[in-house]
Amino acid sequence: MPGRILLIDAVSASRIVLRFRLSTSCYEVFTAASAKEAVETGKSCKPDLIVISRNTGDGGTEGLIERFSRLPATRNAPILVLTAAESAQQRIALLKAGAEDVIERTADDDLLMARLRVLMRRRATAEEVIQRDSTQRQLAMCEPVQTFHRPGLVALVAPDAHRAQAWLEVLSPLTEDNLTVITMEAALAACPRGPAPDVFVVACSTAARDPGLRLLSELRSRTETRHSATVALVEGEQSNQDLVRDRAAMALDVGAADVLVNGFNQVELALRIKRQMAFKKQADQLRNSVRAGLQMAVCDPLTGLYNRRYAMPHLARIAAAASDRGRPFATMLLDLDRFKTVNDTYGHKAGDEVLVAVAERLKDNLRSHDLLARIGGEEFLVAMPDTGHKNAREAADRLRDIVRKTPIDVPGLERGISVTCSIGVSVTQPRKSAVLTPVPDVAGLIDVADSALYQSKADGRDMVTFARPAA
Ligand code: GH3
Ligand code: MG
Ligand code: MG
Repeated sequence: MPGRILLIDAVSASRIVLRFRLSTSCYEVFTAASAKEAVETGKSCKPDLIVISRNTGDGGTEGLIERFSRLPATRNAPILVLTAAESAQQRIALLKAGAEDVIERTADDDLLMARLRVLMRRRATAEEVIQRDSTQRQLAMCEPVQTFHRPGLVALVAPDAHRAQAWLEVLSPLTEDNLTVITMEAALAACPRGPAPDVFVVACSTAARDPGLRLLSELRSRTETRHSATVALVEGEQSNQDLVRDRAAMALDVGAADVLVNGFNQVELALRIKRQMAFKKQADQLRNSVRAGLQMAVCDPLTGLYNRRYAMPHLARIAAAASDRGRPFATMLLDLDRFKTVNDTYGHKAGDEVLVAVAERLKDNLRSHDLLARIGGEEFLVAMPDTGHKNAREAADRLRDIVRKTPIDVPGLERGISVTCSIGVSVTQPRKSAVLTPVPDVAGLIDVADSALYQSKADGRDMVTFARPAA
């Protein structure tokens, strides 16, 4: 089921027709004939989206929008208003009151459905932000989602630069965001240099091969701009409004977040830009918190290195790639010597400082494509792709050296703490035959390196031992 819609229409025949139109797209539709009924139904059905067609309530449609914005069950549901032909003034009043869009009731299904799809998608994003925010608050992991006040960047794109410049001049006094003009040609040719605009306003026409529509889908597919919001301004002959609406539906389907179909109006455009800016920033926030969450799941908070959870599947990938390409690779386990004594002598906090410093040193002495992870208290895993016996020997000796060479400075201690480490290395050589080398299993690789590490410890510590190659 793609979503739940609450439909308000005071006229029974029109309600039935609209309900049918919405149900054919598999929306679950709840209906109400009056504002009072709408509020009651809204409370119980918790709609994803609200469509107000005709409302006979006291406060008018704006009053009803206001009431929905105060009810917990409905306050996050976008509201679409269907009207008979309305004036720009009415439309702006409804948008200001909080309606997402105002569409003529007679508009064909394509535009209405395209609009509903976009709103439902955005509703899903908003829902996730809310859930994530409350989960994080519960875990006390971060501050609650903030509303941003930093000005955003809006790019105005039209085939004619003078036209976009004229938009800029009339929009400037109405927005706190930064505005910039880009020609259609330049926008189609390449991504704008510098930070990607948060919102693009793109002029579209009813011409057969309209560059505006092409740009909308380009912006969606480019890595740099795929998260930017786009507002399409679709214009055409007054006599050809059907085609304008048709183009608007296409614009929404190729990626526009919002469309204007009634010609340029700076107040309306400024309102729509403001709203898209807010959604864009909310979505950015969501992505950042997902990234931070993932980071937290795979990283060790003390040293910032990968943890065991990340390291094991990554080692498996290194092993698989090596056997695919017939290349050797090295697996090393590195364990600090008598680390318990460090803690016992200087305290656990100083011990932590030593772990952080050792992690830094190891990181600085490995290549960017080597894997370095902290897989135990004072135990590190290093996996080096494309590394045979000779290079592994050099690398292991270097790592052992950089740990022991300089004592580690710890705040509050007069002299640095000297530590050493023991290392066990296993080098996996590909078979010489043409047959693909079987991929060694990760647990087996670790076991072999661990036996070598044990040997280093048994032989007196501060040394490197290589596992004997498998027969
Ligand atoms: P060995 O040379 O045999 O490895 O001796 P060891 O003392 O290093 O080994 P053992 O396994 O007996 O002790 C490991 C110590 O590492 C015990 C524990 O207190 C310390 N340790 C583990 N994780 C941390 C940590 O996150 N911070 C600090 N400060 N110490 C830790
Ligand atoms: Mg140890
Ligand atoms: Mg240990």
